[in-house]
Amino acid sequence: MRKPIIAGNWKMYKTATEAKQFVEEVNGLVPDSEKLDAVICAPAIFLAQLVVSAENSPLQIGAQTMSEEDEGAFTGEISPVQLTDIGVKYVIIGHSERRQYFNETDESANKKVKAAFNHGLIPILCVGETLEQRENGETGAVVEAQVEQGISGLTEEQITQLVIAYEPIWAIGTGKTATAEDANEVCGIVRKKVAALYHDEAAEKLRIQYGGSVKPATIDELMGMEHIDGALVGGASLEAGSFVKLLEAG
Ligand code: PGA
Repeated sequence: MRKPIIAGNWKMYKTATEAKQFVEEVNGLVPDSEKLDAVICAPAIFLAQLVVSAENSPLQIGAQTMSEEDEGAFTGEISPVQLTDIGVKYVIIGHSERRQYFNETDESANKKVKAAFNHGLIPILCVGETLEQRENGETGAVVEAQVEQGISGLTEEQITQLVIAYEPIWAIGTGKTATAEDANEVCGIVRKKVAALYHDEAAEKLRIQYGGSVKPATIDELMGMEHIDGALVGGASLEAGSFVKLLEAG
């Protein structure tokens, strides 16, 4: 009943020419948007160009971060108003790399999630534990706290549109994927937490992705799990053929 959502996170990779070529290659191969949401979250500098390149395809374009402010003297920042104006539909919020290298917190993630909804963007809110937290048995508590703070103050309607990406930090870019069972267990904890904070019906509609070294070879098993509705994919989304294979699994 929940529509799968496969999102590529290109991080700080590709030139403008490579980005354009990628979209031209995948354009005709993206499944109908009734069946699946396919998204590429590209570096900000390519967003406007990619929205145009993907115009006649169900492929949607997303940003990797944004400011929580509408406008102002914030040198280097990009606002949700500017993103929606050029046709961007999604935005990744609170990715672990943003938290680690750019001082983002659950509090700033919450402000950005709200700002995204205020401007008609769909936020993909990232949560996930470190290896140390996992080894200490703190995964559930850490992820629950990130979810609670990240979605604080959202309406029930917004919860049904939200996407949460569970990305264990130790699995990102390391080639170590969580087992499908472990990933499903934590995605289930996320859903239960949302049900406790809102209602079962809202939590049932919430889409939860797994992210962390997802590859064409591992996606089928992940997507077969009860609480996993999609994937947020870094490395394996960079090559057109690989991204198309991920979409086929969705
Ligand atoms: P990865 O990245 O697929 O390269 O591990 C995932 C992410 O950071 O979203």
